[in-house]
Amino acid sequence: MTRHRALVVAALVTGLVACATNPVTGDRELALVSESQEIQIGRQVAEGAAQQLGLVEDDALQAYVQRLGLKLAQTSERPELPWRFSVADDPTPNAFAAPGGFIFITRGMLALLRNEAELVSVLGHEIGHVTARHSVAMMSRAQLAQLGLGIGSIISPTVAQFGDLAAGGLQLLFLRYGRDAERQADELGYRYALAHGYDVREMTNVFVALQQSARLAGQSPVPSWLSTHPYPEERIRRIAQALTDLPPAVEPRRIGEADYLARIDGLAYGEDPRKGYFEANRFLHPELAFRLDFPRDWRTQNFAQAVVAGSPREDALIQLMLVPGTLQEATERFFGQEGLTAGRIRSQRVNGLPAISGAFQAQTAQAVLGGVATFVSLEGRTYRILGYSPAAQFRGYEATFRAVGSSFARLTDASALARQPQRLAIIRVPRAMTVAEFNRLHPSAIPIEELALINQQPGAEAVMPAGFLAKQVVGE
Ligand SMILES: [Zn+2]
Repeated sequence: MTRHRALVVAALVTGLVACATNPVTGDRELALVSESQEIQIGRQVAEGAAQQLGLVEDDALQAYVQRLGLKLAQTSERPELPWRFSVADDPTPNAFAAPGGFIFITRGMLALLRNEAELVSVLGHEIGHVTARHSVAMMSRAQLAQLGLGIGSIISPTVAQFGDLAAGGLQLLFLRYGRDAERQADELGYRYALAHGYDVREMTNVFVALQQSARLAGQSPVPSWLSTHPYPEERIRRIAQALTDLPPAVEPRRIGEADYLARIDGLAYGEDPRKGYFEANRFLHPELAFRLDFPRDWRTQNFAQAVVAGSPREDALIQLMLVPGTLQEATERFFGQEGLTAGRIRSQRVNGLPAISGAFQAQTAQAVLGGVATFVSLEGRTYRILGYSPAAQFRGYEATFRAVGSSFARLTDASALARQPQRLAIIRVPRAMTVAEFNRLHPSAIPIEELALINQQPGAEAVMPAGFLAKQVVGE
């Protein structure tokens, strides 16, 4: 992250601000970054996002999405970009594009979709943001706005690792484009899907499902596609309008329902507890077999690489992550950083585990930070629990930081250790039946409204026709 920011700054300072031709409109426009810079920035943002969100470990599914996306992208205005389509391991329905052609769709979005035509419409829309250079325009603006950030950007790369990614990587992907950009991406996506013989009428279903999903979901920590893609009614209307001009198909347009559903059969659904989950303020990680207690009322989030908690007043952060090296090595590396002054460092045992902790002050570009770092060793892995705040607030938080570090413990509870994610199962209904009836025959451990949603049915009493391929959610 730090590198590409430096790159943008360098481009500005040396006056490399260039005028580039927009590949879609053919207009000349001010571009802060060249195409090779765009690819470089995009690649870094994509790597950060892949690390933070994680990718679904299913090679066949990843290859399928890559193949579909690439097919569309290769006939777009920018076929030469290093297009990469990935399924992010995130239960929130979302899709986003980093500049340079790096596109992500979440497994939460895949769970909502019913066929390949719908999937293609989402991928096509994101491709449109890249080909029309929306994401790079946004990125340059955001990069510039970001130069004066506070707590997230700390000089020390180790301390900055998460704050920077959160501020610079993911957030940038969740930026809202303007209304015009969304309209253009919709039009481009429609065009790409149509060019490949897909039934573009399926596009509308995606918006209807997302609207229904937003009504059910309430507040999710990660923004969904709908929150970064507003005005669904208008967009449904515009698609309907475009459809009236659609010439009759010479041969049937592709929907690809059975193919698509076979690909997502068995896909994890909802939060994956193997990667850690919260019970109130306690974080439990079955795969790594540990637990940690965060302060009550702090806002927590579990990323693939770190678990973070922010204080209610947003002036302190606690971050838990795995770090390389032994307990000794990790401790020495951390406290030996330039710009960091260590207090007393002491070896201790935390719930029977070897640990080292110490307070520190870190000089950053914007402020002096005070913090406590606790390192704990379990099963040959080293964990770092880092709490920090501006130095002026540190006294008020020090005890909290130490208490969180001391709460680290081996997870021994058998049922917690055995937790598994729920999964999608595809079942062909033998006769017409309501969603409620299907749920009685093949129970899912989710609310009935949610079951109706993932089957793209308006409600529990909606009737699915005979032969309908229905989604069931299996597991506890
Ligand atoms: Zn969009």
